[in-house]
Amino acid sequence: MTLRVYNTMARAKQEFVPREEGRVSIYTCGPTVYNHIHIGNARTFLSFDVIRRYLEYRGFDVKFVQNVTDVDDKIINRANEEGRRASEVAAEYTEAFIAAMRALGVEDPTVRPKATETIPEMIALIERLISGGHAYESGGDVYFSVRSFPGYGKLSGRDVDEMENQARIEPDSRKRDPLDFALWKSAKPGEPHWPSPWGEGRPGWHIECSAMSEMEFGLPFDIHGGGSDLIFPHHENEIAQSEAATGVTFANYWLHGGMLQVDSEKMSKSLGNFLLLKDVLEAYPVPVIRLLMLQTHYRSSLDYSTDRLDEAATAYERISNMVRLARWAQSRPPAVEGAPEVERQALERARTSTQERFAAEMDDDFNTAGALGAVFDLVRQANGFMSEHEAALSAADLAVLGTAADLVTELVGVLGVPLDTSAQGPALPAGVVTLAVELAGYDGTDAAEAAEALLTLRASARAERDWTRADAVRDGLAALGVTVADTATGARVTIGGV
Ligand code: AMP
Ligand code: ZN
Repeated sequence: MTLRVYNTMARAKQEFVPREEGRVSIYTCGPTVYNHIHIGNARTFLSFDVIRRYLEYRGFDVKFVQNVTDVDDKIINRANEEGRRASEVAAEYTEAFIAAMRALGVEDPTVRPKATETIPEMIALIERLISGGHAYESGGDVYFSVRSFPGYGKLSGRDVDEMENQARIEPDSRKRDPLDFALWKSAKPGEPHWPSPWGEGRPGWHIECSAMSEMEFGLPFDIHGGGSDLIFPHHENEIAQSEAATGVTFANYWLHGGMLQVDSEKMSKSLGNFLLLKDVLEAYPVPVIRLLMLQTHYRSSLDYSTDRLDEAATAYERISNMVRLARWAQSRPPAVEGAPEVERQALERARTSTQERFAAEMDDDFNTAGALGAVFDLVRQANGFMSEHEAALSAADLAVLGTAADLVTELVGVLGVPLDTSAQGPALPAGVVTLAVELAGYDGTDAAEAAEALLTLRASARAERDWTRADAVRDGLAALGVTVADTATGARVTIGGV
């Protein structure tokens, strides 16, 4: 099976062929560390985390590089406002970024280069551009000469002449052409600065990604990622810098994530409509946040709302419940006679086709929404099977259910969505413990053990024909949403009808 990815450069889905068999090089632009990241930023980072995880699941050896922009106007402005050093502000938010990414279950990149630690490589690249006639020094600044690179505009589909017509002429500009962009900026008083052949200064934003990707991978590398808001000018400028300097293609595939929106408007710091990832992490479990994001294809825009998060919470509960109930059923003695064979076979077929559908959807430009749809279908079918035959599941039924639960766990795990797969415990409400303490003299804290104590009490009450006590157990559990089912091999508790 081939993996196809939508390449922004080609404006089409293409078969993905890595430059080196079995290995994938991915570069994605990281954050500018002047504040905590919002959940829009988190969506893009999460999308590339899942792309990476799937490539690894498919057996590729992935090298994943993501930069941290730790010197920038926004950082300097924030430092000035707070009377701090820019490096302090950057260090604080770099740490916060790494912590929030880890909390969201995003794997650390293989390499996380910082702009301030890549200055010599950036200077060397700028020197190559100057000597090749693609950049020029002007009053301590260095600019890239856009007209010197014929391919400018090819990623974003813009025409240089049209851009020139619409360009705003900045007064006192040191640029020769309004389209040119800064590679190096001379330092203003109080700003962080580094020595360079053009005097003390600091790099422009775009140059770091060109320098770092070449340094880490050599060109061309396989996949360049980022949010769609970076296509122009940032990625266009990266291409111009790297291809003008080296004469070779910069990246083979350009993958861009859609924007997370609130009320149909892009979430952004400047619009003030943002929610910080760290605050959302406090309010919702990680698997729920990830599910919400992954239920939409990474290239589509995603409308964020707490209603949708609540829906994702319900979906998560449905998946985890299925796995828990299957584990619970497996922990019980099997019935001699189980479900009709045709039904068991139907469930087994559903399991096999789910694995195939999941892979086909993910191979189709990482369609996590479709892949999750396949998982949900299996969950629905397994839940139906369990609720239909809850009273009598044979060893063969339990084996099929067990493999279905294994598969569901594995597939959502590929998407970085952990399930609580413990056989008992969280599936049963904590009230079961209280009830067992009251009725059965249970003195532990484990809900599954407590349920067992209650069932034992009920069995002995029934043996003694003490219906009042037996019913007290059944009714007490029913009040907690837990049903007692009498099966051929003894009583079991079930939750939510399954
Ligand atoms: P920045 O720190 O602004 O450079 O953004 C870091 C990453 O977040 C980039 O890949 C952006 O494309 C991405 N990003 C910014 N805003 C959003 C949004 N509302 N939805 C999705 N991604 C975003
Ligand atoms: Zn970049």
